[in-house]
Amino acid sequence: MSAIDWAKVRDDFPLLRRQVHGKPLVYFDNANTAQKPAVVIDAVDDFYRRYNANVSRAVHALGSEATDAYEAARSTLARLINARSNELVLCSGTTFAINLVAYSWALPRLAPGDVIVVSRMEHHANIVPWQLIAERTGAQIRVAELLPDGSLDLDALDKALDGAVKLLAIAHVSNVLGTINPVREICRMARKRGIISVVDGSQAVPHMPVDVAAIGCDFYAFTGHKVCGPTGTGALWARREHLQAMPPFLGGGEMIKEVSFEGTTFNDAPYKFEAGTPNIAGFIGLGAAADYLTTLGLDQVQAREAELLAHFSEELSKVDGLRLIGTAPDKAAVVSFLIDGAHAHDLATLLDLEGVAVRSGQHCAHPLLQFYGVAATCRASLAFYNTHEEIEAFMAALTKVRRLLG
Ligand code: PLP
Repeated sequence: MSAIDWAKVRDDFPLLRRQVHGKPLVYFDNANTAQKPAVVIDAVDDFYRRYNANVSRAVHALGSEATDAYEAARSTLARLINARSNELVLCSGTTFAINLVAYSWALPRLAPGDVIVVSRMEHHANIVPWQLIAERTGAQIRVAELLPDGSLDLDALDKALDGAVKLLAIAHVSNVLGTINPVREICRMARKRGIISVVDGSQAVPHMPVDVAAIGCDFYAFTGHKVCGPTGTGALWARREHLQAMPPFLGGGEMIKEVSFEGTTFNDAPYKFEAGTPNIAGFIGLGAAADYLTTLGLDQVQAREAELLAHFSEELSKVDGLRLIGTAPDKAAVVSFLIDGAHAHDLATLLDLEGVAVRSGQHCAHPLLQFYGVAATCRASLAFYNTHEEIEAFMAALTKVRRLLG
């Protein structure tokens, strides 16, 4: 047990005090988006109240303060994943980050005969960009398959990574199964064969210490709103040599050194990939979120969530007719389940009436749900600010809902 007073930590999140349908809110939809601590809300508020200005453009005081705060947020975020700030492209989220790699790294390099390996458990954000690039270049998509418990089949992956493979796209943690992939081992496999690895860290950065240098990947993407930051924020980390070799993705202000009608010279990375006015307030808020999590300690967060998951799994194992989708040994606190005779959407709707927020549906992972032969699941995803009492409340609500569904 950690020494952190988790009840006090929970108090940092104003929204968690509210009621829904007259019941105390049980927010178990953290894989979808995380709630924000007051320090994040205050940082955004403070920016607009005190020093709202555009970044990197104005020499006046407000402009300098805004630019300093924005760049400080980049450094804080870089530290969160043990990266250098000149390797971190700030962008709107994982979807943008992966598309940036697809269009800027892969599109100019791939050709017919090349293969992109994508795992079965990917979010659509780490599938569809590769399909679009495959269509444009004549490259093929190859699927890295899973074992029935939702672990990646590492032997199959080893065979799949043959000489035709140029790029491997893999989730650090699955948003449906909670499976934690051994990305260090996987990226080592890829690197030994000269294959570029793109890791989708959306569900990892909020829940565990992440060290991109130790992972040894080429690209690592994550999204700010799942890390207790504002929506419309995120980042792409890339090895400096890739950023330097890649052409810009979008053109416009900020990403140039000089523009004339004879030709344009581009800014250095990462600014070359940050065309236009960014979500300044959002990134300042995300910097505050990264500070908050770093102070809390992501190892503590991970331990707390493991403890909640153990309790939750134990309770769920007592429920007749409940099927878990995703039982890999190394798992984050994301629990997808089905209940005999109940549709996932009906379950989620009735749970909501009890104040319990879970997600139902396909979770932007159609190929994964096809693998399990199911049309939808209910997904409860926990965060460090959830409590053992909320797990009890969830179980009581589930019992009531099952009675209603007959
Ligand atoms: N990848 C994973 C694993 C996710 O869980 C999500 C969001 O649910 C995304 C990518 C997409 O993130 P965003 O919509 O913030 O770009």
